[in-house]
Amino acid sequence: MPKETPMMQQYKKIKEEYQDAILLFRLGDFYEMFMEDAEIAAEILEIVLTSREVGKGKRVSMCGIPYHSAAGYIARLIEKGFKVAVCEQVEDPKKAKGLVKREVVKVITPGTVTDWQMLDEKTNNYLMGIAVAGGDYGLAVSDLSTGDFLVTQFPKIGLNLLVDEIHHWQPREIILPEGEEELRENISESARRCGSLVTDRPDREFQPGTVRERLCMHFNVTSLEGFGCQNLDAAAAAAGAVLAYFQETQKAQLKHITALRTYHLGDYMHLDFFTRRNLELIRTMRENKTTGSLLWVLDATVTAMGGRLLKKWLEQPLRRLDEIEERLEKVAAFYSAHGLREETRILLKKTCDLQRILSRLSCGTVNPRELLALGETLSLLPKLKDLLTGSGAPVLAEQAGKIDSLPDLCQLLLSAIREDTPAGLKEGNIFRRGYHPELDKLLSAAKEGKAWIAGLEQRERERTGIKSLKVGYNQVFGYYIEVTKPNLSLVPEDYIQRQTLVNGERFVTPELKEYEELVLGAEERRIALEYELFQDLRHRVLNELPRLHQTAALLAELDVLAALAETAVKNDYCRPALNQERRISIIGGRHPVVEKVIPPGEFVANDTLIDGEKHRLQIITGPNMAGKSTYMRQVALIVLMAQIGSFVPAEKADIGLVDRIFTRVGAADDLTGGQSTFMVEMNELSNILHHATRDSLLILDEIGRGTSTYDGLSIAWAALEYLWDPEKIGARTLFATHYHELINLEQHLPGVENLNVAVAREEGKIIFLRKIMPGGSDESYGIEVARLAGLPADLLERASEILKDLEEKGLKGPAKRTTGKKPTLLQLPLFSSGEEQELVRELLALNLDEITPRRALELLYQWQARLKRIKKEA
Ligand code: ADP
Ligand code: MG
Repeated sequence: MPKETPMMQQYKKIKEEYQDAILLFRLGDFYEMFMEDAEIAAEILEIVLTSREVGKGKRVSMCGIPYHSAAGYIARLIEKGFKVAVCEQVEDPKKAKGLVKREVVKVITPGTVTDWQMLDEKTNNYLMGIAVAGGDYGLAVSDLSTGDFLVTQFPKIGLNLLVDEIHHWQPREIILPEGEEELRENISESARRCGSLVTDRPDREFQPGTVRERLCMHFNVTSLEGFGCQNLDAAAAAAGAVLAYFQETQKAQLKHITALRTYHLGDYMHLDFFTRRNLELIRTMRENKTTGSLLWVLDATVTAMGGRLLKKWLEQPLRRLDEIEERLEKVAAFYSAHGLREETRILLKKTCDLQRILSRLSCGTVNPRELLALGETLSLLPKLKDLLTGSGAPVLAEQAGKIDSLPDLCQLLLSAIREDTPAGLKEGNIFRRGYHPELDKLLSAAKEGKAWIAGLEQRERERTGIKSLKVGYNQVFGYYIEVTKPNLSLVPEDYIQRQTLVNGERFVTPELKEYEELVLGAEERRIALEYELFQDLRHRVLNELPRLHQTAALLAELDVLAALAETAVKNDYCRPALNQERRISIIGGRHPVVEKVIPPGEFVANDTLIDGEKHRLQIITGPNMAGKSTYMRQVALIVLMAQIGSFVPAEKADIGLVDRIFTRVGAADDLTGGQSTFMVEMNELSNILHHATRDSLLILDEIGRGTSTYDGLSIAWAALEYLWDPEKIGARTLFATHYHELINLEQHLPGVENLNVAVAREEGKIIFLRKIMPGGSDESYGIEVARLAGLPADLLERASEILKDLEEKGLKGPAKRTTGKKPTLLQLPLFSSGEEQELVRELLALNLDEITPRRALELLYQWQARLKRIKKEA
């Protein structure tokens, strides 16, 4: 085998340690990638794949990216779910003897990103660690870019809780102890749906002893008591592993992670994956976009920190009445004081993303402009505090009291950093005059020297009488005096010749050299000193991290509170009253999103009364498109909004707090799930039946529709009885169905109530009134809706006939045609050729309950294409 170049040997040695990452290998002004890495990267980054000789006659594939524009390329690799290890030259190539020393200085993975370019400002970038210990799952989530760090723990039997938490946090990356195959298997589907990269980590990083030591050392504490997870082994294991991963990838201290917070799943309203998706809290189901989601309606935040916090609130509605009241009280204070709200928001808008700057500060990547922004933000705080204190609202005054404006630090930063500081550290020019005496001296010296040199040309012209004499500068010789050939005889004695040109010569003088030394030396020392001063400044800010974090959190909260008030005013919401008697009474309730997407004024408000007793389970019937789904979701959303502390779209609302909301949409109605089979629907139903409690709110939309009528009807019936039964569940339930047979339940079970969405008939057509009325509807109006959709008249006539027959005789035997017209449908002669019959056989063999809507559509396309071909051939 030919011997490889030393560089290749060095590369391979480093690559060995970072097998699961794409290694960016610094060579001069480029990061190069080799072999398999190069092949992957070239394709993703759309850059040219070349090759390089790495030994006699041996070539390997290679591609490269310029180091100064690397961030964008790295972002793309991360986006695709790759990890990137950045290997730098760690000694000055000019001073190196032989091969330059290189080391990996950072590993970037989807869950450990801190670069602005790779982050969405209003979205947290979470890494999740999952550990298993003593029959429990431990779960830690942290956003390295903001310093958030939370843990929780729950019994292993709650696998569904684990899955729900993954959907809740939407981590970019999940770390697991290697070898936990079962765990890996159990979460793989959720990880895929959330787009989370799953990374195996050495088992030892999850070991109780190791993790406690690591955590205690990091937080500089003797036990985890203060964080509430002293006795939670699994939680601590997950947290320790997350910290270890951060430390390993960042190769930094991570001081901005100042605390660990233990949360309990019971603190928040529990929302499972289907419910989140169904209620379209953060994204819409169909297009997976924010536009059209609840967040879209509510998000009037003016800062990135507020935007991220609002999302968290939406995903973790509260359960404790006092906590919710506290938020509502603050929102109310902003709601009723227009000027206060305006001014607060104007001030907040000027603040920077403190959390992310603090993270960059502790990862060592903060730049002078960011520190200046930090100082400027702090300088706004006294005004903000005054504003809130003077608001007359005690809750806001109290909030203001907690804000630490760190006046000393603010003063320090503003007096240190120049307003026009560059973003980078390379050239200095960061600090103001008067900040540091030594720096001032260097600045004066440089200035003096420059001034002396600037005056030299004029002085020398006068002294020598050479009018064309010039003073110039170049990289090689430094400052020089240039004299043209005809004037060389006039050159004085003290000139020392340095360089001969075509038309003249260049000289220096000892004095010029002195000043040059002064200028250049001062520049060099200034840059070095500024670098030192900046590191010092960084450390002084770092010392204040806990206080800064607290302030950041309070600002984020203020932003969300003021934003909720703003939205409430704009959209005409009311402050909900809260109760713990399970009574949900809404007057003039509206769907917060639907009312925004239909023309203004067209939304028909509806009242709701559910109370867990006489009005416990409501069965809602009515034709397709009448507004059943909208109404039910509206109730769920109003409850959820109230429990995050928001005002609600209603005239009046009294909300009996709920522990969980469940929503399910029947398979036939849910076209977006990708796997909407009857089986899935039943799985979900079973999940509800196992986890709903008396305090839950259930929204069931057309459950039992994905199978043949009798099956579906009986399942729906039995499920309703079960949910209704106070001995079994007794949850507050809204149930929309097209099985009007179910309206009979009202007579048998107290607390069951029939509602319908009113429609009017006019000349055989129906008009949707969108009004929820007492009583069940007796028909499904499906045929009328079909008429609205423009189906042919004779088809509709025939459908009415079949319906009548079915209603009289049940589902047995096909209805005989009575209209006497020539039959046109389902006559086999239509499918005459062999191929056509084959097609019919396929159709008949298909189990409609087991295929996805998407697959069905694909088949339709295929069959149609085949039929068209056959017709053409014939
Ligand atoms: P269903 O579930 O009964 O088939 P939907 O709830 O899906 O009907 O409503 C169908 C459409 O009717 C909605 O997309 C919305 O545009 C409109 N709609 C529903 N409820 C209302 C309402 N209260 N006021 C105005 N329009 C409504
Ligand atoms: Mg519906």
